Amino acid sequence: MTVDLRKDFVEYAKSLNNACADTNIQKALTRSVDAYRNTVAETMERFPHTPALAEEVRELKCQSMANLDKLLETAMASVERNKGKAFYAKDHQAALEIALGIIGTNKTIVKGKSMLGEELHLREYLEEKGNEVWETDLGEFILQLRKERPMHILSPSIHVPREQVAEVFSKFFNKEVPPDIAEEVKVVREFMREKYFTADIGISGANVVAADTGAMVIIENEGNVRLATGAPPVHIVIVGVEKLVPTFQDAMKVAEVTWRYAQYGIPGYVNIVSGPSKTGDIEKVTTYGAHGPKEFYVIFVDSGRSEMAKQEKFSEALNCLRCGGCMYECPVFQVTAGHFGHIYMGGIGTIWTAFVSGGMEKAAPMAYSCLRCGRCVERCPMSINVPAMVGELRKRSIYGE
Ligand code: SF4
Repeated sequence: MTVDLRKDFVEYAKSLNNACADTNIQKALTRSVDAYRNTVAETMERFPHTPALAEEVRELKCQSMANLDKLLETAMASVERNKGKAFYAKDHQAALEIALGIIGTNKTIVKGKSMLGEELHLREYLEEKGNEVWETDLGEFILQLRKERPMHILSPSIHVPREQVAEVFSKFFNKEVPPDIAEEVKVVREFMREKYFTADIGISGANVVAADTGAMVIIENEGNVRLATGAPPVHIVIVGVEKLVPTFQDAMKVAEVTWRYAQYGIPGYVNIVSGPSKTGDIEKVTTYGAHGPKEFYVIFVDSGRSEMAKQEKFSEALNCLRCGGCMYECPVFQVTAGHFGHIYMGGIGTIWTAFVSGGMEKAAPMAYSCLRCGRCVERCPMSINVPAMVGELRKRSIYGE
């Protein structure tokens, strides 16, 4: 399909130009890029085996994507064996309907950060259906209050300095919150604690899923995912099928590479969730619904991913670990943040936008703002050749497939 580039470009160019003129974006990104580079350099020195492990992960991700159907079947059977319920959603609408079928209305929901959740507009959808939904990740919570979308896949509120956070919190909490980061964190901690323990449902994504065991691996630092997935009586995982790998050992390798390139020597928490809570403490009889959730659901979402896997020129994009490293190196992202994006951002986001979140209409303007400089490839643990894919997208935007 070809697109009317002039029409699609106008709005997008306006947004990029506004972003370039926004001094808050410049300030926040300059600090973040420096911090990212320094921390990653130091981390790689401490853990020098990481690049070789990344090579191994790249190979196993390629093999996994070539065997998606089989992995999905195995993973769904594993979830059911663990007394969870597994669903497959072909597209966004199906995923939303399955989630709503489980949740219903008038529920309180605490939610962890998830790019797939953004893709689905999950919070907005559940709110429209009469539920109260809270983003528990601090950055996502800030954006929920500001009614904005994420500007980075890992640090969603990267563009909001502490002064603006204080403003929005003072208004929401109806008291003076100073522009002091420790105070800002404290006020959210106090507010959110009550939500975790009164919520009906916790929703999370997963960084990687081991098909053989049905284990969902969720990396985090804040401790919000532990609480959001451990305290409410129901836990729903919504995860893209590209997160599947064959074994638990494979999943651990993917997780380590992900957090290392996301600039952590070791993250605060690595959650491994495989089913509802259980105990065998009385007469060794396994009983479900102990201290954690009584019910556990997993919705595996396709929505363009298996189509991407079939296309030789683009399948590599599915290897993306969402570490966010490439964005810190991207010269366009450095001055525009997530405005160089539509749900997914930067060069890799261009490919994901085309197949998964916005189609060619949204992806084509992004493809033309990518400089194809290749700096992202240098940083990427999966060495994803984004410039080549962007070139192909430009061609398709004019001549079609
Ligand atoms: S494309 Fe590479 S560097 Fe960018 S988020 Fe994905 S894995 Fe990380």
